[in-house]
Amino acid sequence: MNVLIVEDFKELADELAEFLQKNGYLCKIVSTCADAEEEVEVNEYDAMLLDLGLPDGSGFAVLKLVRKLKLKMAVIVITARGELNDKIEGLDLGADDYLTKPFALTELAARLFAVIRRINGFAKNELDMHGFKIFLQDYKISFNDNIIALTKKEFNIFQYLVLNKNRVITRLQLTEHVWGDVLEINSDSNFIDVHVRNLRKKLEKYAALPWFETVRNVGYRIND
Ligand code: CA
Repeated sequence: MNVLIVEDFKELADELAEFLQKNGYLCKIVSTCADAEEEVEVNEYDAMLLDLGLPDGSGFAVLKLVRKLKLKMAVIVITARGELNDKIEGLDLGADDYLTKPFALTELAARLFAVIRRINGFAKNELDMHGFKIFLQDYKISFNDNIIALTKKEFNIFQYLVLNKNRVITRLQLTEHVWGDVLEINSDSNFIDVHVRNLRKKLEKYAALPWFETVRNVGYRIND
């Protein structure tokens, strides 16, 4: 999953990114409202950690934009201790949760996971797709209790398609989701297809996949 970190205190931003990356998230750090606004307009994120005191204004401006664009993105506002007014304003603007500095990284992980889960409309830590069980928090997939060894990219591809089931997901969307910044990669290459092919091979050892479609020249779709 992709997380946008909007935080101008570089040390904290780096610490958050390092922790989240270890937990399987892809992170992008920006330090101003302007950069954050550009990011949410251009790239797809599952969640945003939003500091309020930014050099070019209040983080609330970014939150307003996210809600105005109706993005399916969980927003956790990071506030300084005791700023109750921020909390109230943020709630009015549609923040999904709050963290008060300083906070434990484990607390952040739990909150982040909870809001992403809520926004995607599932109540458990597991998803079931035609007998394949996805353990969202552990980055594992199983079939009849057999754990299937997937690479992190394969896991992210499968999870993303399942979370967006019954919708065609383009190669570009998958690439952005799994690799982060799409500009850093060669868009002509067929590497996404290679990963999907490997993923399919691993899953097909357990069951046929008529529900895992290739949409010619566009992308992929997993049907419920
Ligand atoms: Ca700040």
